[in-house]
Formats: sequence, structure tokens, C-alpha cells
Amino acid sequence: MSLQLIDNPPRWPNGARCAVCFCFDLDAESLLHLYYPQDAGRRVQTSSTLRYGPRIAVPRIVRIWRHFNIRQTMYVPGWCIETYPAAMEALLADGHEIGHHGYLHERPNQLTRDDEARVMERGVAIIEKLTGKRPAGYRCPSGAFSPHTLDLLIEHGFTYDASLHGDDVPYIIESDAGHLIELPSDFPLDDWPQYVHMKDFNMAMVIQSPQRAMEVFQAEFDAAWTHGGLWAAIWHPFVSGRLARADAMVRLIEHMRAKGDVWFATMAEIAAHIQGLIDSGEWTPRRERLPYWTAPVPQVARPKA
Ligand SMILES: [Zn+2]
Repeated sequence: MSLQLIDNPPRWPNGARCAVCFCFDLDAESLLHLYYPQDAGRRVQTSSTLRYGPRIAVPRIVRIWRHFNIRQTMYVPGWCIETYPAAMEALLADGHEIGHHGYLHERPNQLTRDDEARVMERGVAIIEKLTGKRPAGYRCPSGAFSPHTLDLLIEHGFTYDASLHGDDVPYIIESDAGHLIELPSDFPLDDWPQYVHMKDFNMAMVIQSPQRAMEVFQAEFDAAWTHGGLWAAIWHPFVSGRLARADAMVRLIEHMRAKGDVWFATMAEIAAHIQGLIDSGEWTPRRERLPYWTAPVPQVARPKA
């Protein structure tokens, strides 16, 4: 028996050791149009890189998930849903979850509360039109969770958020407006630090081999499996859906399957399971109150110019 490193892990269904969701953020060219509204049309190569996501990678990822008979989650900006209907149809046909990811990948913490609400409502309406129901979950674009995001998610009836990094297992985030289930992840499960080298986005990482990247992702999985955690990726179709990386993803799922007792689920299913544990009184999650800070903290000394 190994030393238990998570204080209060939830029970996962059917005796599973951990929960796994290969969450993808299907950003396509939303970032390009957000950051370069005047001349996105001149940045043809970057566009082609990003379009690879919905055009080539999504069908490939759907094929992989179908092969393993798992249903997973993609967070999609509303504009991408409108622009790439075939990718959306492929995801929906196999029962994958579509989560909210802004309209054009706006950074909420750069917007007013009213503008953040307008963006959120536009995304909700587009997902509702696509799927026939409101989205259960939200992942904040660029991790730019604002002081208003939690309250807006509660107001708009979301059941979970997947933007924050505050634990290894689900927890509750709360404010005066109410509370919400948080399904956390962290940068070790993000594919940008491993692979993304794009000058237009001021991101110039040394590109890792898929094997090297999978060492990082697999280490997180093995620890989640040992200690009862949640493994929720922050991957992107145009990044991890490239050929060699998609191939490595297949190997990773095979590793997970070989280890056994893994619950592959959508984030909405994971949130529903957690809510069930709470409602039955079987499990009490940790709670965190937002906002963390509303004023500068006292500083004894400040650097002089
Ligand atoms: Zn994104």
C-alpha cells in the first residue's frame, strides 16, 4: 500500500481508481481573429495551422475515442461552432460533450462584467441551438477567469467549471451568489507548453517529442491512478491532434486501459457523479471562497525606482 497523498478523494464509479477526461479546447482561428482583428486574413500560415484542428484533427480524435468506446469533452468558442459545423456534427454524433469556451476566445478578465455576460450568453445560445440544451460546463479562454466569472456561471445555470487549478480532485467554489463544482486541471496537463511554437502568439517553446510530452501526461495519470485523483487534460486539436501526437495519445489510452480501473467520462458526467456524492452525503468536498483578494495586501517595503 502506497502512502496516500490526497486527503479526501471522492469514490469513483465501479471501483475506478481515478477519473479521466481528455478535454480538448477547440479554438481553431478564434485566437487569430481576437488578437489580429485587422489583418488576420494576411496570416495565412497561422490560419492553416489552426484550421487543422477542426478540419483534420477533430475527425481523427473522434475516430480514436470511438475505437476505445469513450465519450469525452470539447470546449468550443461559439464562433468556432458556427464556423466549423462538420466538426461539431462529428462530435455530437458520437455523444461527446460540448462545453462553453467564450465566443471568440475573449479574455474575461479584460472585459467589463456586462461584456463578459454578453459573451457568455452568446456562447450559451449557440450551444443550445446546436445541441438542444444549455451547456453544463465552462472552461475560461486563456485561463482568464475574472472576478465576475463564478457569479455569472451561477446566474446562467452552469453545473460545473473547468478553468481553475486549485486541487487534485473536484472541489466547490463559492461566492455570495452561490456555489459551483470545480473540476480542476493544471499546466502539466496542458499541451501548449510541450508543443506550441507560434510566433504570432508570442509562444516559442522548444517542441518536445510526443514521447517526452507523454512522460509528463502519463506521470500525472499514474499519480491520479495511485491516489484517486482527476486527470483532466487541457489539450487542443491543432496541437495534440497532429499525426505523431495523436498516435502517442493512442498509446497513452492503451496504457490507461492496461492499468485498468479507470473511469473515462465526460466532464459533465464527472460533475454529475460528484453532485450525486454530495447529495447523498457520501462525500464532502473541500470549499474555496472567491474572490481570493479584493484589495492589495500590506507591504513593508516597496522596490524604489
Ligand atoms: Zn482555448
